Amino acid sequence: MSTAAPEIVAVPAFSDNYIWLLRDPASGAVAVVDPGDGTAALRAAEERGWRIGQVLTTHWHPDHTGGNLQVKEATGCTIHGPAAERDRIPGIDEELREGDRVRVGQLEAEVWEVPGHTLGHIAFVFREAGFAFVGDTLFVMGCGRLFEGTPAQMHASLQRLGTLGADTRLYCAHEYTLGNARFAAHAEPDNIAVRTRLTQVEALRDAGAMTVPTTVAEEWATNPFLRAKDVQELGSLRQAKDSFR
Ligand SMILES: [Zn+2]
Repeated sequence: MSTAAPEIVAVPAFSDNYIWLLRDPASGAVAVVDPGDGTAALRAAEERGWRIGQVLTTHWHPDHTGGNLQVKEATGCTIHGPAAERDRIPGIDEELREGDRVRVGQLEAEVWEVPGHTLGHIAFVFREAGFAFVGDTLFVMGCGRLFEGTPAQMHASLQRLGTLGADTRLYCAHEYTLGNARFAAHAEPDNIAVRTRLTQVEALRDAGAMTVPTTVAEEWATNPFLRAKDVQELGSLRQAKDSFR
């Protein structure tokens, strides 16, 4: 294949959020995923000479949607987000449901409903291009808090993401990896892959480097929430993590 790879750029925001810029090199189309901070998103696009045409929203939380209107006002972009959360997503134009498709230039995403962190949470799965934006559902070596959903929902959502190809890159919305890795080492003390990754993550964070994206294969090896054998284990892990220091 001679097509250039999609460009994906992290825009750090607040204390630990990642806003993602996605550019399709074939068409020049640019989307921004979860622009909680509109100024940061616009600046990052402007620095590259990119014009944002779309906002992709994974869920309604303000640290993911707080910049929607600012980005829309500055660019005239279209805002896509979960239909189930439409009333809480500023500026939403296109309501998305399970099985819908979203195009960014020539790139195409499948919309997956992955409830648990919120009830309407969706993921954008660019299956052909080999990556997905998973918001606050799956984190590197962890998963989102269950603010609205149940352990059963989160379990199903994680297992589904785990069906993607082993090399699929997963872009989550927070840098929570160090805390997650420490918890994983506590939860699975005999897991050598977790130990090894914790050491790598400590070195990356010491150097001020980011740990996202991850891959499906790495998560199967080191993410206790994905590796949980059933809903009950997922629920117990999530509860333990909520109070882990
Ligand atoms: Zn959230």
